Amino acid sequence: MRAACDNAGCFCTFEVNLKTISMNIDGEKLELTYFVCPYCNKLYKVVLKNKKILNIESKLKRYKKKSSSAFGKDDSLSSIYTKLATRKLEELRQEYDAVDHQFTGTFTFAASTNNGKEKLKHFGKVIYVP
Ligand SMILES: [Zn+2]
Repeated sequence: MRAACDNAGCFCTFEVNLKTISMNIDGEKLELTYFVCPYCNKLYKVVLKNKKILNIESKLKRYKKKSSSAFGKDDSLSSIYTKLATRKLEELRQEYDAVDHQFTGTFTFAASTNNGKEKLKHFGKVIYVP
């Protein structure tokens, strides 16, 4: 997948290279998936997950698996798991909304302390600026 950078003065296109890291914001453990413009180092947030989201996702995955393995063998059991999965999907949507409202700030790289060796910024720590 290619993306176009919207940073003023950059406007380049590049191949997206997704990265996922764990972060701690205000004592809350979160998982951030992002990609970076290789020309100007602008960080683009893709998705931010909290513990609850990760938990719901793993349950959703389990229900889907159980539903499909029961399908054709025990259709009523299969439909129970489909219903459970649908409920989890709705929970997931709400939790994503909640996280988006909770963390409306910007994710960026911590300023380089390497005497202006700007390229190192790319490998710097990702920070959240509320
Ligand atoms: Zn850029």
